[in-house]
Amino acid sequence: MTKHVVIIGAGIVGAATAIELLRDGHAVTIVEPGQPGGRQAASYGNSGWLSPASIIPMSMPGLWKKVPGMMADPAGPLAIRWHHILRLAPWLLRFVAAGATVAKVERTAGILSTLLHDAPERHEKLAQEIDRADLILRKGLIYAYPDRAAFDAEALAWSLRRKNGVAFRELSPAELHAVEPNLDRRYSFGVIVEKGGHCVDPGGYVAAIVAHAVGLGAKLIRAKVTGFELTGQKLTAVQTETNAIVCDRAVIAAGIHSKDLATLAGDTVPLESERGYHVVIHRDIAKGTMPIMPGDGKMGNNPTLAGLRIAGQVELATSSDEPDWARADILLRHAKRTYSDLLTPFDESRIDRWMGHRPSTPDGLPVIGRSSRTADIVYAFGHGHVGLATGPVTGCLVADLIAGRPSPIDLTAFSASRF
Ligand SMILES: Cc1cc2nc3c(=O)[nH]c(=O)nc-3n(C[C@H](O)[C@H](O)[C@H](O)COP(=O)(O)OP(=O)(O)OC[C@H]3O[C@@H](n4cnc5c(N)ncnc54)[C@H](O)[C@@H]3O)c2cc1C
Repeated sequence: MTKHVVIIGAGIVGAATAIELLRDGHAVTIVEPGQPGGRQAASYGNSGWLSPASIIPMSMPGLWKKVPGMMADPAGPLAIRWHHILRLAPWLLRFVAAGATVAKVERTAGILSTLLHDAPERHEKLAQEIDRADLILRKGLIYAYPDRAAFDAEALAWSLRRKNGVAFRELSPAELHAVEPNLDRRYSFGVIVEKGGHCVDPGGYVAAIVAHAVGLGAKLIRAKVTGFELTGQKLTAVQTETNAIVCDRAVIAAGIHSKDLATLAGDTVPLESERGYHVVIHRDIAKGTMPIMPGDGKMGNNPTLAGLRIAGQVELATSSDEPDWARADILLRHAKRTYSDLLTPFDESRIDRWMGHRPSTPDGLPVIGRSSRTADIVYAFGHGHVGLATGPVTGCLVADLIAGRPSPIDLTAFSASRF
């Protein structure tokens, strides 16, 4: 039976969910305070990678030994605002525990693989469906290393990828520099994941998905959801700052802000912001044409429509703390060391800097499933580092939950009650 479903949040997860619910014939209302896919959303500023290889969690065995060195390095990929350490401690302990053994990492990689293995194809199909096939490219994804020893240092990650069916091919120095002639000669070893894809305008893509959903009959309301109205265990309405929207079901897809809404729905989820940054160097200046992840920079580089986007960094703070733009400048400095065409000084006033929030659980897995308080509220958040890639599959899983269809994927690992 069709329902009236309110989707809370118009990032990639909410947008892709809207399309799947409309496909099932539901009446859909999307509630979003900002522009769909706007700068407030993680979905706007990410690296745009759609990689079946992104199955390796951030927490790996021995990480706790490396963290002090990483944090002592002011140009390193990880930073923490120390005055938050007591509040963050429980999340951090769970995070380290989640990757404490190879067996745990193997399990996480296997689960993430169920969400990521066909992510590029799913995006390709979705982009065609909304008539924006131009936004998803399938040129492959390159992981570049200074040398083979640097690649070998990540042997566990690459063996887990192989084990989970991720196909990759080694590139000789000549092949690597033929694929991306602007890449600095310092990189002499590469790997290409040929099945991978990338999105050349993540924010525009999300906006286009939402516009398509509206064209198919979805309602878009510019408001912030503040709570839920229930009669017994039946959801009757979603409250916003100004009114109540009568509905049968609600989907919480509010990115980092999902935590408070999940609390209202009966679940305490350890969701924290792994803040990330990007810089976009105008395409008149940066000529790179391939998505590249330099192993020594821990960042995802993407030739977007606006220019070369360099995205990365993990900064543990709150979602309300002011950005630390020095983190974005680290990315810019690294970009200058990565591409030979950026060695010549250029007009840096044209660089766009952005900071946003990866909605991250400590075990690196999203929260997808029904709430404890009522089966009428469905969770779709906590996708951390892989939310763009896994948005479409999440939309399908949510649609199955709302239709009462059996899920093609075991959802136990994504349940909010695992914490
Ligand atoms: C630097 C960086 C690089 C990344 N690179 C990649 C990558 O290459 N590939 C990849 O797959 N992922 C990547 N990610 C992760 C990815 O961007 C996120 O996981 C994903 O965008 C999360 O999508 P979302 O829809 O859950 O949340 P968001 O995109 O944050 O959207 C949530 C929306 O909910 C709205 N909202 C909040 N509160 C409310 C409320 N109370 N009522 C109504 N609406 C509300 C917000 O305004 C927002 O628009 C990266 C992230 C960062 C920060």
